[in-house]
Amino acid sequence: MPNRIKKIAVLTSGGDAPGMNAAVRSVVRTCAYHGVECVGVYRGYQGMIEGDFKPMDARSVRGIINKGGTILKSARSKEFRTKEGREKAFQNIKKAGVEGLVIIGGDGSFTGALVFNQEYGFPVMGIPGTIDNDIFGTTHTLGFDTALNTVVDAIDKIRDTASSHNRLFFIEVMGRDVGHIALNTGIAGGAEEILIPEEDLGLDRLVESLNKSKKTGKTSSIVVVAEGDKIGKNIFELKEYVDENMEGYDVRVSVLGHMQRGGAPSCFDRVLASRMGVKAVETLLNGQTNYMVGLQNNKMELTPLDNAIKGKTKINLELLRVSDIMST
Ligand code: ATP
Repeated sequence: MPNRIKKIAVLTSGGDAPGMNAAVRSVVRTCAYHGVECVGVYRGYQGMIEGDFKPMDARSVRGIINKGGTILKSARSKEFRTKEGREKAFQNIKKAGVEGLVIIGGDGSFTGALVFNQEYGFPVMGIPGTIDNDIFGTTHTLGFDTALNTVVDAIDKIRDTASSHNRLFFIEVMGRDVGHIALNTGIAGGAEEILIPEEDLGLDRLVESLNKSKKTGKTSSIVVVAEGDKIGKNIFELKEYVDENMEGYDVRVSVLGHMQRGGAPSCFDRVLASRMGVKAVETLLNGQTNYMVGLQNNKMELTPLDNAIKGKTKINLELLRVSDIMST
């Protein structure tokens, strides 16, 4: 392996996701394995601008693989969007002797990385960390699997109360632009309907479907709604409409919110994070730059950052069909 780079920095940026710590640990330990120095940057790009760095060795990441959030903290940095901000970041990182950067974050963070690379020729690698699973080039982003398990656990609990009181629950889950969380957890949680941004059922069709379920003997119902669903302006409007147009149900709303981001990462996310960290560091050490590591056909693959940012993930049509059949 042509070991040209002697020091690598790692940062977490954008929204936090379970598994980010496991990825930081993997980056640090892969560096140690290859005899490369590693530096942790606190608070994402803002920490680069302020020179908030800390040397990290293999032992400095002990006990974090099972922790949610990110020990490096995450941030959204307005200053990094400016030329002056990025110049400060470059000067700091150069002064620290860093020669390559691993960014754990979403597509915004990758855009920042690409701009930085274009301006300074600085080697960058991306690890997709976001619960929404909305990044092209990987079947799973870090944190997605954990968020699915968290949401299914919540749906199970809500179902207990729904079935005890003949209630209809609208449960809002994260996903402003994509319905991956809603579709998967809706199927796993036995939802009667799943509303996602990619598909507009229409309000009438929703009420018709719920009425049909009721006629077949259902006494309670769960509807999983992605934040970005297009039917109603928001979940409370959906409730109002169904309240007015359907009888016999006590309609309730539950917005799961930020609890979906927290918690210990699942086994899947810990393994994925460990694999992604190894691949990201070794790709940099191979002299390659501007890639995102991702999972494809259970292999670690590279996608050019540009494609990862511009590409759109597609909803799994087979899952849509399964969900239709299951709500019969
Ligand atoms: P999430 O998917 O959780 O929102 P993200 O990585 O997409 O994560 P953003 O807030 O979009 O989150 O981006 C994170 C940071 O990346 C921004 O705060 C900013 O510092 C940097 N960034 C984003 N876009 C650009 C850009 N066009 N130029 C420079 N920096 C950028």
